[in-house]
Amino acid sequence: MASQEIETLTAALSRLPGLGPRSARRAVLWLIKRRETALVQLVDALGAVREALVECGVCGNVDTTDPCAICADPRRDARSLCVVEEVADLWALDRARLFTGKYHVLGGRLSALDGVRPEDLAFDGLLHRIAAGGVDEVVLAMNATLEGQTTAHYIAERLENFPVRVTQLAHGLPVGGELDYLDEGTLAQAIRARRPVS
Ligand SMILES: [Zn+2]
Repeated sequence: MASQEIETLTAALSRLPGLGPRSARRAVLWLIKRRETALVQLVDALGAVREALVECGVCGNVDTTDPCAICADPRRDARSLCVVEEVADLWALDRARLFTGKYHVLGGRLSALDGVRPEDLAFDGLLHRIAAGGVDEVVLAMNATLEGQTTAHYIAERLENFPVRVTQLAHGLPVGGELDYLDEGTLAQAIRARRPVS
């Protein structure tokens, strides 16, 4: 039997995406053997993240300030709002440097399988921002997965009565493709060739 401390850390790590209980336990043992190097570094890095990073109250981005640097940047075009599933998608799109508007992070995608309902995602915040005015175009940048597309359709329906143009990324995106795995050229092309939602 491992000690309670090891069990607790293993359980915490095994909740990370892509890390099951076995690899979590391996990681814990690996860290214990490297107490003064890797473990100390990890503790410091986690502490720094905890201290410094906050969720942006406007768009849901993660940054050292609230509102985040993107929301606070007057050079960015507030008339164009790009809706993404996750913060990682926002960062991927922003690396492609082709979208100069602002963002809105939903915090996931609708999923009957995982029991994710509209009220679990940041739709209300999105509708408030659009209802407040000043937005001309909403770019739906969901992943090219079934759930991503279901989410995009749901948003398009909710926006029907708002005076905004609703577009979505061009599907040069591979089916099943998740935005943060795509190279910047593909993403840039998908933004450039965005088209109205039919
Ligand atoms: Zn923000």
